[in-house]
Amino acid sequence: MSEVRVRFAPSPTGFFHIGGARTALFNWLYARHTGGRFVLRIEDTDRQRNTAEALRVILEGLHWLGMDWDEGPEAGGDYGPYFQSERSSIYLDYLGKLKDADRVYEKDGAVYFRLEGERYRAYDNYKKCEVEKVKAAPQVIDDLVRGRVERAEEQDFVLFRRNGEPGFHFVNVVDDLTMGITHVIRGEDHLSNTSKHCELFKAFGEEPPVFAHIPLILKGSGSGKMSKRDEGSLVEEYRRRRFIPEAVRNYLCLLGWSPKDDREKMDIEEVIRLFDLSGINSNNARFDERKLAFMNTAYLREMSRKRFSGEAWDYLVRAGVLKEIGVDTSGWDQRDKRYFEEVMKLCQEKARSIEDLPHFVGYFFTEDYPIDSGAARKVLKQGDPHARLREIRRALEEVASFSEAKLEEKVNELSERTGARPGDYIHPTRLAVSGTNVGPSFYGLLCMLGKARVLNRIDRFLSATPAPV
Ligand code: GLU
Repeated sequence: MSEVRVRFAPSPTGFFHIGGARTALFNWLYARHTGGRFVLRIEDTDRQRNTAEALRVILEGLHWLGMDWDEGPEAGGDYGPYFQSERSSIYLDYLGKLKDADRVYEKDGAVYFRLEGERYRAYDNYKKCEVEKVKAAPQVIDDLVRGRVERAEEQDFVLFRRNGEPGFHFVNVVDDLTMGITHVIRGEDHLSNTSKHCELFKAFGEEPPVFAHIPLILKGSGSGKMSKRDEGSLVEEYRRRRFIPEAVRNYLCLLGWSPKDDREKMDIEEVIRLFDLSGINSNNARFDERKLAFMNTAYLREMSRKRFSGEAWDYLVRAGVLKEIGVDTSGWDQRDKRYFEEVMKLCQEKARSIEDLPHFVGYFFTEDYPIDSGAARKVLKQGDPHARLREIRRALEEVASFSEAKLEEKVNELSERTGARPGDYIHPTRLAVSGTNVGPSFYGLLCMLGKARVLNRIDRFLSATPAPV
């Protein structure tokens, strides 16, 4: 078989939709699985809407998700230009071929493709008038996902619009043809265009490529197709929110495809090895933001400490997020940087996202941390937390130098002596020194803060939060 050539053909609209990213991904996976070529083609015939900025959003999104293309913008290639706006002479050439075959006519300034078949007049419900229809032979599409689809076109369609710009169907087919595309993998919303595309391929005397129309992505809540207006539908949003790109990519792999054994978190090499068009599910895929968040957390937990700390640094320090909560990082020296790394090491196994880190670790960097009211309500309603805090404060004061083992021993000793459970000490202490009831390991946290800050914070908490009467 000849080399597989697939393409992603976005129209730059200014957004990079999750659905588009998934289409790109399936093409990329198929190219990598088969050792074929992945082509990026920019369908920018709509000149008013297409800007350099809109293109940048797509290219950056693809780079971010780790999808490289073998031909296209930035990469070059033998089948260019890869921008439709630069292919006018090719389109005129191909229009000439259709003219020579007598498959073209002009009407009201637009150029039409002539279907073959018996003509008759019929009422058009949509246009509310009588129109000319054609009994064209049905086009049979053996879609690799949808199965066999038959559809007959009924009306001649536009090749060049009245404004002289070539139309979508025409350029799409001419490009797939001239770029040697072997497999068209695209969203199911294009299935209804495919009979037109087959008509055109055949009019050029060519066999259409193999088609695989991948299922729509439905909104997580309620019904309907996910659109760019829906929250969570844009790649750039996940990027801004510091999701881990490998996690987003892994999640997108599962939107319509799955390995046979229900595995979810998978290395991309493994997905490439297993990916095939026959494994694409024909049912619509539902977008599940929680599942994506879990996937992201799973990637955070398993990445190297160095990378986690680097991601955290990019967000908290470089992007100025710690500054927003009052921490001046401009004067940080080597020691501060080491401390930052230690904090991240401690927090990696409990943090849920990079985006959550300011709340999750803020108290390591400032004395001015908020006390979460929900957490406080929960923790303070049980037993006598103030008494426990005073007791643990005294016990901690006796520990000459903090270590996790020593602190744990001390708290166990204390609870044996008083009959209170270790948790009766741990929960209010965590609340006092961090302002919350979630976080990294308790003893690790105390060691990281150090004795002076811990005692200080307990004192402050005791005087600022009066015991309930
Ligand atoms: N520019 C079209 C789109 O963004 C591409 C359609 C296709 O893949 O054939 O929907």
